[in-house]
Amino acid sequence: MTAKKITKKSKKTAAKKAALKPKTAVKTAVKKTAAKKISTKSLWRVGKSTVHGRGIFPTADIARGERIIEYKGERISNTEADRRGDDAAGDAHHTFLFAISEKVVLDASRFGNEARFINHCCSPNCEAEVKRGRVYIYAKRKIPANAELFYDYSYVTDDSYSDAELRRLYPCRCGSPKCRKTIAAVGKARQQSW
Ligand SMILES: [Zn+2]
Repeated sequence: MTAKKITKKSKKTAAKKAALKPKTAVKTAVKKTAAKKISTKSLWRVGKSTVHGRGIFPTADIARGERIIEYKGERISNTEADRRGDDAAGDAHHTFLFAISEKVVLDASRFGNEARFINHCCSPNCEAEVKRGRVYIYAKRKIPANAELFYDYSYVTDDSYSDAELRRLYPCRCGSPKCRKTIAAVGKARQQSW
């Protein structure tokens, strides 16, 4: 009985989402996982990335599940994100926009912190999680000091694009053996659940 109820609800949410999602490319959290440890230490430094521009590196070993940094930014509507996304057209590999719900997007280009320098990888050592309207980056596995941090940006964008078009528009060259050849979410992962 409960299962039926949940299915109905999630279908409704999916329809609503399709109508309200920003049309510009925005980062999203891939999945929500179990309880995490919250660290009070400053665990990272900014350095030259091995893949793109600046990157974030841990200053000490990080335990699996440890919270590393919050992804901060100005809270804007998805309509405003679309407007700003158009302004930034031309650099498809780099957005500071992170969708935290079907209506709210964080823009780290304003009031953002160093978390915006963490790069994308298809087999990342970190993951982003939305908790009570805020985004945190957690260690997905044990990470040794000085290994660059990555999470999966899992871009969601205009539903009219095919997976092939997304691969052309937002190519990924992260070098992972599991690289899906795009920073965008493809296949089932496109059905983002907020
Ligand atoms: Zn990749």
